[in-house]
Amino acid sequence: MRARFKWTAPEHGMSRMSAGVIIGIESTAHTFSFGLVDSEGHSMPSCSALLRPKEGGIHPREAADHHADNSQLLLARWLEQNGLNLSDIAAVSYSQGPGLAPCLRVGASIARALSQSLKVPLVGVNHCVAHIEIGRERCGCVDPVLLYVSGGNTQVIARLGDKYRVLGETLDIGIGNMLDKFARDNGMSFPGGPKVEAMAKQWLKDNPDASLKGLELPYAVHGMDLTFSGLLTAAKGLVDRGAPLGAVCWSLQEHSFAACIEVAERALAHTGKSEILLGGGVACNERLREMSEIMASERGCLSSVPEKMYCVDNGTMIARLGWMQLKHVGPTALSESGVEAQLRTDQTMICWP
Ligand code: AMP
Ligand code: MG
Repeated sequence: MRARFKWTAPEHGMSRMSAGVIIGIESTAHTFSFGLVDSEGHSMPSCSALLRPKEGGIHPREAADHHADNSQLLLARWLEQNGLNLSDIAAVSYSQGPGLAPCLRVGASIARALSQSLKVPLVGVNHCVAHIEIGRERCGCVDPVLLYVSGGNTQVIARLGDKYRVLGETLDIGIGNMLDKFARDNGMSFPGGPKVEAMAKQWLKDNPDASLKGLELPYAVHGMDLTFSGLLTAAKGLVDRGAPLGAVCWSLQEHSFAACIEVAERALAHTGKSEILLGGGVACNERLREMSEIMASERGCLSSVPEKMYCVDNGTMIARLGWMQLKHVGPTALSESGVEAQLRTDQTMICWP
Protein backbone atom coordinates (compact mmCIF):
# COMPACT_ATOMS: atom_id res chain seq x y z
CA MET A 1 0.00 0.00 0.00
CA ARG A 2 2.72 2.45 0.96
CA ALA A 3 4.29 2.41 -2.49
CA ARG A 4 1.12 4.02 -3.91
CA PHE A 5 1.68 7.21 -1.93
CA LYS A 6 4.29 9.31 -3.67
CA TRP A 7 4.10 13.05 -3.14
CA THR A 8 4.53 15.12 -6.29
CA ALA A 9 6.15 18.54 -6.53
CA PRO A 10 5.20 20.34 -3.31
CA GLU A 11 4.80 24.01 -4.11
CA HIS A 12 5.27 25.45 -0.63
CA GLY A 13 8.58 24.00 0.44
CA MET A 14 7.03 21.24 2.56
CA SER A 15 10.01 18.95 2.28
CA ARG A 16 8.50 16.55 4.81
CA MET A 17 5.73 15.80 2.27
CA SER A 18 7.92 13.79 -0.03
CA ALA A 19 5.60 10.78 0.38
CA GLY A 20 2.54 9.92 2.37
CA VAL A 21 -1.15 10.55 2.77
CA ILE A 22 -3.17 13.47 4.07
CA ILE A 23 -5.44 12.58 6.94
CA GLY A 24 -8.70 14.55 7.16
CA ILE A 25 -10.51 14.96 10.49
CA GLU A 26 -14.23 15.80 10.48
CA SER A 27 -15.95 16.73 13.75
CA THR A 28 -18.36 19.60 13.04
CA ALA A 29 -21.54 17.99 14.46
CA HIS A 30 -22.89 14.43 14.80
CA THR A 31 -20.14 12.66 12.85
CA PHE A 32 -16.56 12.02 13.86
CA SER A 33 -14.56 10.78 10.92
CA PHE A 34 -11.03 10.15 9.68
CA GLY A 35 -10.54 10.11 5.93
CA LEU A 36 -7.66 10.40 3.52
CA VAL A 37 -6.39 11.34 0.13
CA ASP A 38 -3.17 10.09 -1.38
CA SER A 39 -0.34 12.35 -2.42
CA GLU A 40 -2.12 13.09 -5.71
CA GLY A 41 -5.34 14.07 -3.96
CA HIS A 42 -7.29 10.92 -4.83
CA SER A 43 -10.01 10.24 -2.29
CA MET A 44 -10.51 7.01 -0.38
CA PRO A 45 -13.36 5.92 1.93
CA SER A 46 -13.47 7.36 5.45
CA CYS A 47 -13.74 5.64 8.80
CA SER A 48 -16.61 7.28 10.72
CA ALA A 49 -18.60 7.14 13.96
CA LEU A 50 -22.08 8.70 13.99
CA LEU A 51 -23.66 9.84 17.25
CA ARG A 52 -27.17 8.39 17.56
CA PRO A 53 -28.85 9.97 20.60
CA LYS A 54 -31.33 7.66 22.37
CA GLU A 55 -33.70 10.58 22.67
CA GLY A 56 -33.80 14.27 21.68
CA GLY A 57 -31.55 16.04 19.19
CA ILE A 58 -27.79 16.50 19.03
CA HIS A 59 -26.43 18.08 22.22
CA PRO A 60 -23.10 19.80 21.46
CA ARG A 61 -21.39 18.64 24.69
CA GLU A 62 -22.58 15.06 24.27
CA ALA A 63 -21.46 15.06 20.65
CA ALA A 64 -18.02 16.38 21.67
CA ASP A 65 -17.72 13.62 24.30
CA HIS A 66 -18.75 11.06 21.67
CA HIS A 67 -15.99 12.28 19.34
CA ALA A 68 -13.34 12.30 22.06
CA ASP A 69 -14.38 8.85 23.36
CA ASN A 70 -14.24 7.32 19.86
CA SER A 71 -11.11 9.03 18.57
CA GLN A 72 -8.46 6.51 19.62
CA LEU A 73 -10.27 3.41 18.41
CA LEU A 74 -11.35 5.09 15.20
CA LEU A 75 -7.81 6.21 14.39
CA ALA A 76 -6.57 2.66 14.94
CA ARG A 77 -9.33 1.35 12.65
CA TRP A 78 -8.48 3.98 10.02
CA LEU A 79 -4.80 2.95 10.05
CA GLU A 80 -5.71 -0.74 9.80
CA GLN A 81 -8.33 -0.21 7.09
CA ASN A 82 -5.77 1.58 4.93
CA GLY A 83 -2.73 -0.52 5.81
CA LEU A 84 -0.91 2.54 7.13
CA ASN A 85 1.35 3.52 10.01
CA LEU A 86 1.29 6.94 11.65
CA SER A 87 4.60 7.64 9.91
CA ASP A 88 2.76 7.49 6.54
CA ILE A 89 0.87 10.68 7.40
CA ALA A 90 2.37 13.59 5.47
CA ALA A 91 -0.09 16.30 6.60
CA VAL A 92 -3.09 16.74 8.87
CA SER A 93 -6.25 18.50 7.72
CA TYR A 94 -9.24 19.26 9.96
CA SER A 95 -12.60 21.07 9.89
CA GLN A 96 -11.95 24.52 11.30
CA GLY A 97 -15.62 25.54 10.96
CA PRO A 98 -18.50 26.09 10.73
CA GLY A 99 -20.01 23.77 13.31
CA LEU A 100 -20.68 23.16 16.99
CA ALA A 101 -17.77 24.72 18.87
CA PRO A 102 -17.21 21.89 21.42
CA CYS A 103 -17.18 19.33 18.59
CA LEU A 104 -14.86 21.40 16.43
CA ARG A 105 -12.42 21.75 19.35
CA VAL A 106 -12.10 17.97 19.70
CA GLY A 107 -11.13 17.59 16.03
CA ALA A 108 -8.79 20.59 16.11
CA SER A 109 -7.01 19.33 19.26
CA ILE A 110 -6.43 15.90 17.75
CA ALA A 111 -5.21 17.51 14.51
CA ARG A 112 -2.74 19.74 16.37
CA ALA A 113 -1.48 16.84 18.47
CA LEU A 114 -0.92 14.66 15.39
CA SER A 115 0.72 17.47 13.44
CA GLN A 116 3.06 18.39 16.30
CA SER A 117 4.04 14.86 17.24
CA LEU A 118 4.59 13.72 13.64
CA LYS A 119 6.16 17.06 12.65
CA VAL A 120 3.97 17.41 9.56
CA PRO A 121 1.98 20.41 8.25
CA LEU A 122 -1.39 21.31 9.74
CA VAL A 123 -4.21 22.69 7.60
CA GLY A 124 -7.57 23.98 8.83
CA VAL A 125 -10.37 23.94 6.22
CA ASN A 126 -13.90 25.23 5.68
CA HIS A 127 -16.36 22.34 6.03
CA CYS A 128 -18.87 23.75 3.50
CA VAL A 129 -16.17 24.29 0.87
CA ALA A 130 -15.02 20.70 1.49
CA HIS A 131 -18.51 19.45 0.48
CA ILE A 132 -18.10 21.29 -2.83
CA GLU A 133 -14.56 20.16 -3.56
CA ILE A 134 -15.19 16.46 -2.86
CA GLY A 135 -18.20 16.64 -5.18
CA ARG A 136 -16.12 18.28 -7.89
CA GLU A 137 -13.46 15.60 -7.57
CA ARG A 138 -15.81 12.62 -7.44
CA CYS A 139 -18.14 13.83 -10.24
CA GLY A 140 -15.63 15.66 -12.42
CA CYS A 141 -17.69 18.87 -12.38
CA VAL A 142 -15.90 22.01 -13.47
CA ASP A 143 -17.93 25.03 -12.39
CA PRO A 144 -21.21 23.92 -10.84
CA VAL A 145 -23.98 25.55 -8.85
CA LEU A 146 -23.94 23.56 -5.62
CA LEU A 147 -27.15 22.66 -3.81
CA TYR A 148 -25.76 21.97 -0.34
CA VAL A 149 -28.41 20.25 1.77
CA SER A 150 -27.26 18.88 5.09
CA GLY A 151 -28.39 18.67 8.71
CA GLY A 152 -27.48 22.19 9.79
CA ASN A 153 -26.93 23.89 6.42
CA THR A 154 -29.00 24.55 3.32
CA GLN A 155 -27.32 26.77 0.77
CA VAL A 156 -27.19 27.37 -2.96
CA ILE A 157 -23.61 28.23 -3.80
CA ALA A 158 -21.69 29.21 -6.92
CA ARG A 159 -18.14 30.27 -7.55
CA LEU A 160 -17.81 33.89 -8.64
CA GLY A 161 -14.20 35.09 -8.81
CA ASP A 162 -12.13 33.91 -5.88
CA LYS A 163 -14.97 32.94 -3.53
CA TYR A 164 -17.80 30.46 -3.37
CA ARG A 165 -20.76 32.85 -2.99
CA VAL A 166 -23.95 31.95 -1.17
CA LEU A 167 -26.72 32.89 -3.59
CA GLY A 168 -29.53 31.60 -1.40
CA GLU A 169 -29.86 29.84 1.94
CA THR A 170 -32.20 28.84 4.71
CA LEU A 171 -33.31 31.68 6.92
CA ASP A 172 -34.15 29.36 9.81
CA ILE A 173 -33.24 25.65 10.16
CA GLY A 174 -31.36 23.33 7.81
CA ILE A 175 -33.49 20.98 5.69
CA GLY A 176 -31.90 17.92 7.33
CA ASN A 177 -32.68 19.23 10.82
CA MET A 178 -36.26 19.79 9.69
CA LEU A 179 -36.56 16.17 8.46
CA ASP A 180 -34.85 14.87 11.61
CA LYS A 181 -37.20 16.85 13.87
CA PHE A 182 -40.29 15.70 12.00
CA ALA A 183 -39.06 12.10 12.19
CA ARG A 184 -38.25 12.36 15.90
CA ASP A 185 -41.71 13.78 16.71
CA ASN A 186 -43.18 10.76 14.95
CA GLY A 187 -41.13 8.09 16.70
CA MET A 188 -38.31 7.67 14.18
CA SER A 189 -34.72 7.69 15.43
CA PHE A 190 -31.81 9.89 14.25
CA PRO A 191 -30.95 10.30 11.44
CA GLY A 192 -34.57 10.80 10.42
CA GLY A 193 -34.07 11.75 6.75
CA PRO A 194 -33.59 8.17 5.48
CA LYS A 195 -36.64 7.00 7.48
CA VAL A 196 -38.82 9.77 6.07
CA GLU A 197 -37.58 8.77 2.62
CA ALA A 198 -38.46 5.10 3.20
CA MET A 199 -41.97 6.01 4.45
CA ALA A 200 -42.56 8.32 1.50
CA LYS A 201 -41.41 5.64 -0.94
CA GLN A 202 -43.69 3.02 0.61
CA TRP A 203 -46.65 5.45 0.56
CA LEU A 204 -46.16 6.09 -3.13
CA LYS A 205 -45.80 2.37 -3.84
CA ASP A 206 -49.08 1.66 -2.03
CA ASN A 207 -50.79 4.73 -3.55
CA PRO A 208 -49.49 5.14 -7.10
CA ASP A 209 -52.20 7.74 -7.85
CA ALA A 210 -51.40 9.75 -4.71
CA SER A 211 -52.26 13.44 -4.88
CA LEU A 212 -51.03 16.34 -2.78
CA LYS A 213 -54.65 17.54 -2.40
CA GLY A 214 -55.30 17.91 1.31
CA LEU A 215 -51.56 17.52 2.00
CA GLU A 216 -50.52 21.04 0.97
CA LEU A 217 -47.74 22.71 2.97
CA PRO A 218 -46.49 26.32 3.03
CA TYR A 219 -44.32 27.68 0.21
CA ALA A 220 -40.73 27.63 1.49
CA VAL A 221 -39.15 29.94 -1.13
CA HIS A 222 -38.50 33.58 -0.21
CA GLY A 223 -36.74 35.22 -3.13
CA MET A 224 -33.49 33.24 -3.31
CA ASP A 225 -33.82 32.09 0.31
CA LEU A 226 -35.69 29.28 2.02
CA THR A 227 -37.47 28.60 5.31
CA PHE A 228 -38.36 25.21 6.69
CA SER A 229 -39.82 25.73 10.17
CA GLY A 230 -43.27 26.62 8.72
CA LEU A 231 -43.26 23.37 6.74
CA LEU A 232 -42.35 21.45 9.89
CA THR A 233 -45.18 22.97 11.92
CA ALA A 234 -47.71 22.44 9.13
CA ALA A 235 -46.61 18.83 8.59
CA LYS A 236 -47.04 18.14 12.31
CA GLY A 237 -50.52 19.69 12.03
CA LEU A 238 -51.43 17.28 9.20
CA VAL A 239 -50.40 14.28 11.30
CA ASP A 240 -52.32 15.65 14.32
CA ARG A 241 -55.42 15.95 12.13
CA GLY A 242 -55.13 12.27 11.15
CA ALA A 243 -53.32 12.29 7.79
CA PRO A 244 -51.40 9.04 7.25
CA LEU A 245 -47.74 9.42 8.31
CA GLY A 246 -46.44 8.05 5.00
CA ALA A 247 -48.52 10.59 3.08
CA VAL A 248 -47.15 13.46 5.16
CA CYS A 249 -43.56 12.21 4.73
CA TRP A 250 -44.14 12.19 0.97
CA SER A 251 -45.69 15.66 0.97
CA LEU A 252 -42.90 17.05 3.16
CA GLN A 253 -40.28 15.76 0.73
CA GLU A 254 -42.16 17.01 -2.34
CA HIS A 255 -42.59 20.53 -0.93
CA SER A 256 -39.17 21.00 0.65
CA PHE A 257 -37.19 19.47 -2.23
CA ALA A 258 -39.15 21.39 -4.86
CA ALA A 259 -38.32 24.63 -3.02
CA CYS A 260 -34.58 23.80 -3.01
CA ILE A 261 -34.63 22.82 -6.69
CA GLU A 262 -36.48 26.03 -7.58
CA VAL A 263 -33.82 28.21 -5.95
CA ALA A 264 -31.04 26.13 -7.52
CA GLU A 265 -32.65 26.50 -10.94
CA ARG A 266 -32.85 30.25 -10.50
CA ALA A 267 -29.15 30.27 -9.54
CA LEU A 268 -28.34 28.38 -12.75
CA ALA A 269 -30.33 30.93 -14.74
CA HIS A 270 -28.72 33.96 -13.04
CA THR A 271 -25.13 32.70 -13.27
CA GLY A 272 -25.40 31.08 -16.71
CA LYS A 273 -23.69 27.94 -15.36
CA SER A 274 -24.63 24.57 -16.79
CA GLU A 275 -23.90 22.08 -14.02
CA ILE A 276 -25.71 21.45 -10.75
CA LEU A 277 -23.93 19.48 -8.04
CA LEU A 278 -25.71 18.08 -4.98
CA GLY A 279 -23.90 17.74 -1.66
CA GLY A 280 -24.61 17.21 2.06
CA GLY A 281 -26.41 14.31 3.74
CA VAL A 282 -29.87 15.08 2.29
CA ALA A 283 -28.33 14.64 -1.18
CA CYS A 284 -28.46 10.88 -0.42
CA ASN A 285 -32.21 11.12 -1.05
CA GLU A 286 -33.27 9.42 -4.29
CA ARG A 287 -36.27 11.71 -4.84
CA LEU A 288 -34.16 14.86 -4.51
CA ARG A 289 -31.65 13.38 -6.97
CA GLU A 290 -34.47 12.62 -9.37
CA MET A 291 -35.94 16.14 -9.12
CA SER A 292 -32.53 17.66 -9.76
CA GLU A 293 -32.02 15.47 -12.83
CA ILE A 294 -35.45 16.41 -14.23
CA MET A 295 -34.80 20.13 -13.72
CA ALA A 296 -31.29 19.90 -15.19
CA SER A 297 -32.37 17.94 -18.26
CA GLU A 298 -35.21 20.40 -18.95
CA ARG A 299 -32.60 23.20 -18.98
CA GLY A 300 -30.00 21.22 -20.97
CA CYS A 301 -27.75 21.10 -17.90
CA LEU A 302 -25.96 18.29 -16.08
CA SER A 303 -26.94 17.13 -12.57
CA SER A 304 -24.26 15.32 -10.53
CA VAL A 305 -24.08 13.88 -7.06
CA PRO A 306 -21.20 12.01 -5.43
CA GLU A 307 -21.55 8.55 -3.85
CA LYS A 308 -23.60 8.63 -0.63
CA MET A 309 -20.55 8.14 1.59
CA TYR A 310 -19.19 11.44 0.21
CA CYS A 311 -22.52 13.29 0.59
CA VAL A 312 -22.74 12.87 4.37
CA ASP A 313 -20.09 14.45 6.57
CA ASN A 314 -16.83 12.55 6.10
CA GLY A 315 -13.13 12.94 6.79
CA THR A 316 -12.14 12.34 3.17
CA MET A 317 -13.65 15.63 1.98
CA ILE A 318 -11.63 17.40 4.66
CA ALA A 319 -8.47 15.64 3.47
CA ARG A 320 -9.24 16.55 -0.14
CA LEU A 321 -9.65 20.27 0.62
CA GLY A 322 -6.57 20.14 2.87
CA TRP A 323 -4.62 18.72 -0.06
CA MET A 324 -5.80 21.57 -2.32
CA GLN A 325 -5.00 24.24 0.25
CA LEU A 326 -1.53 22.86 0.91
CA LYS A 327 -0.83 22.84 -2.80
CA HIS A 328 -2.15 26.33 -3.53
CA VAL A 329 -2.09 28.30 -0.26
CA GLY A 330 0.10 26.54 2.30
CA PRO A 331 -0.32 25.22 5.85
CA THR A 332 -2.16 26.85 8.76
CA ALA A 333 0.08 28.34 11.46
CA LEU A 334 -0.54 27.03 14.96
CA SER A 335 -1.46 30.56 16.07
CA GLU A 336 -4.19 30.63 13.38
CA SER A 337 -5.51 27.16 14.03
CA GLY A 338 -8.38 28.04 16.41
CA VAL A 339 -11.87 26.85 15.47
CA GLU A 340 -14.41 29.20 13.84
CA ALA A 341 -17.92 28.02 14.69
CA GLN A 342 -19.57 30.72 12.54
CA LEU A 343 -17.25 30.45 9.51
CA ARG A 344 -19.15 31.28 6.30
CA THR A 345 -18.74 29.59 2.92
CA ASP A 346 -17.75 32.92 1.33
CA GLN A 347 -15.02 33.72 3.87
CA THR A 348 -12.59 31.26 2.32
CA MET A 349 -10.42 32.43 -0.59
CA ILE A 350 -10.45 29.95 -3.46
CA CYS A 351 -6.99 29.99 -5.05
CA TRP A 352 -7.29 27.00 -7.34
CA PRO A 353 -8.88 26.38 -10.74
P1 AMP B 1 -24.67 15.83 7.05
O1 AMP B 1 -24.98 16.88 8.09
O2 AMP B 1 -24.23 16.39 5.75
O3 AMP B 1 -23.80 14.70 7.53
O4 AMP B 1 -26.08 15.13 6.74
C1 AMP B 1 -26.87 14.59 7.75
C2 AMP B 1 -28.31 14.86 7.42
O5 AMP B 1 -28.66 14.20 6.20
C3 AMP B 1 -29.28 14.39 8.49
O6 AMP B 1 -30.19 15.43 8.73
C4 AMP B 1 -29.96 13.20 7.82
O7 AMP B 1 -31.29 12.98 8.25
C5 AMP B 1 -29.92 13.60 6.36
N1 AMP B 1 -30.04 12.46 5.45
C6 AMP B 1 -29.22 11.41 5.33
N2 AMP B 1 -29.69 10.54 4.40
C7 AMP B 1 -30.85 11.06 3.93
C8 AMP B 1 -31.83 10.64 2.99
N3 AMP B 1 -31.70 9.50 2.34
N4 AMP B 1 -32.89 11.44 2.77
C9 AMP B 1 -33.04 12.61 3.42
N5 AMP B 1 -32.15 13.06 4.34
C10 AMP B 1 -31.08 12.30 4.60
MG1 MG C 1 -21.89 18.81 6.34
